[in-house]
Amino acid sequence: MTKLPKKFIDSISHIVSADSTIYDDDALEKYGCDETPELFALPDAVIIPENSAQVEKIVRLCYKYNISITPRGAGTGVAGGAVPVAGGIVLSLERLNQIIDIDRKNLIAVVQPGVITGNIQRAVAAENLYYPPDPASVDSCSIGGNIATCAGGMRAFKYGVTKKFVQGLEVIMPPGEKIKLGGKMIKDVSGYDLIGILTGSEGTLGIFTEIMLRLVPLPKYSVDLLAGFENVADCAKAALSIVSETGIQPAAMEFIEDEIVEIEEIFLERKMPLSGAKAQLIVSVDGFDEQTVENEYMRVGEHLFAKKATDVLVANNRSNSELLWEARRSIRDALRHRSPDIAAEDLAVPPTNTPDLLAGVKRIGELHNAKIVGFGHIGDGNLHIDLLRDDMSDEQWRLTKEKIVPELLKLAVKLDGTITGEHGIGYIKRKYLHLGRNNFIIDRMQAIKSSIDPMNLMNPQKIFP
Ligand SMILES: Cc1cc2nc3c(=O)[nH]c(=O)nc-3n(C[C@H](O)[C@H](O)[C@H](O)COP(=O)(O)OP(=O)(O)OC[C@H]3O[C@@H](n4cnc5c(N)ncnc54)[C@H](O)[C@@H]3O)c2cc1C
Repeated sequence: MTKLPKKFIDSISHIVSADSTIYDDDALEKYGCDETPELFALPDAVIIPENSAQVEKIVRLCYKYNISITPRGAGTGVAGGAVPVAGGIVLSLERLNQIIDIDRKNLIAVVQPGVITGNIQRAVAAENLYYPPDPASVDSCSIGGNIATCAGGMRAFKYGVTKKFVQGLEVIMPPGEKIKLGGKMIKDVSGYDLIGILTGSEGTLGIFTEIMLRLVPLPKYSVDLLAGFENVADCAKAALSIVSETGIQPAAMEFIEDEIVEIEEIFLERKMPLSGAKAQLIVSVDGFDEQTVENEYMRVGEHLFAKKATDVLVANNRSNSELLWEARRSIRDALRHRSPDIAAEDLAVPPTNTPDLLAGVKRIGELHNAKIVGFGHIGDGNLHIDLLRDDMSDEQWRLTKEKIVPELLKLAVKLDGTITGEHGIGYIKRKYLHLGRNNFIIDRMQAIKSSIDPMNLMNPQKIFP
């Protein structure tokens, strides 16, 4: 039985059709979690609007009746941002899922927030255009969620993270006001950069209902290399040296350590290439001219051998490349298969400090006798460091997390980095926000939040402790 006021429910039924609301506990369950391990909270209702006018009316009504709103894209977040921890409604954007326009001359795609990001990539590729941000979840996450978390992914190394590609936003802001920011013009400095503030705001400042994405020309050729190393330090140093010593800018550079390769082999039920190596590095080179791409990948390969790679394999046809990336994209599922409970950290440091970060993480694991594994976007200095529960008792697991997680986060900060590079603070990291930001900065951020959302109804209990 829902706790929402009857008058609210009656008014909602005048805004959306009956099949756009969920009040039944069983059906609500799907919306009580995202991909964050060990986090669940049932909302009082789920509302699934079909257009931005409905979103505007729903937000207005929630402010009238003092009801919390948790915006939700595809629910692949790993910081608990879409989990309705404060109750109230989940406002799911899943039905705003149209690609409205691909403007080839202005290099812009206009999309609704619920479109799955991979579908945007494929649609613009058909027009010889490219939307580069490529989170490993690309075929399950939504573009609205990507903007709300400022998603990173594999190709950020060359092309940049999501915020670089947000050129315009339609947003429903508290208490139910539709605004439009940016546009097809490339330059715009009329006042504060509100798109910048909203990108990465994790649903705490407003709801995106339409998005203008910047596109670039589609690179025609791409080759992936897989290199194996005898130890993690050699792999990290080799990765770091590629751009500075060869002058070549790879599109992506991903690190995977041997324990993860073993876990993947069990999950995927197949042997992985270079399976005996202690550390693996995937390097992807792309461009517009076949000969240039070939020269570049050959030079990168030679460079990796010179930097102590024991093997370098070339995936120069589509099926080899797909196998490589499929394995990379399935790491998170493989880890959850091995240990459903995981503390998944998302540390980012200046790329020059990645060797120290990886060494420090191993030291922490050994000190506490805990299984910590690492993989991720080594080119960006952004590594996913996962502490696995395996067969620990509830109490052991609680104590281990309490001890180790802050040590990992402090290590990243000590190395001039940050406690989250791309997943966001969401719900689960908010108690650690002070490790990465001082009180003055947190206070200014909260001032922005309360000036936009004085009733604190837009995704409450997220970001701030
Ligand atoms: C297997 C796997 C791999 C992943 N790999 C990566 C990766 O490489 N890089 C990376 O950055 N992330 C990665 N992620 C995390 C996740 O996919 C991203 O955070 C993604 O951007 C979330 O999108 P979503 O649509 O699922 O958002 P949700 O999980 O639904 O929501 C995320 C946040 O955005 C807010 N939100 C959603 N839609 C809107 C909207 N329209 N308006 C306002 N706020 C909104 C929500 O309130 C919430 O705070 C991965 C996750 C998984 C499970």
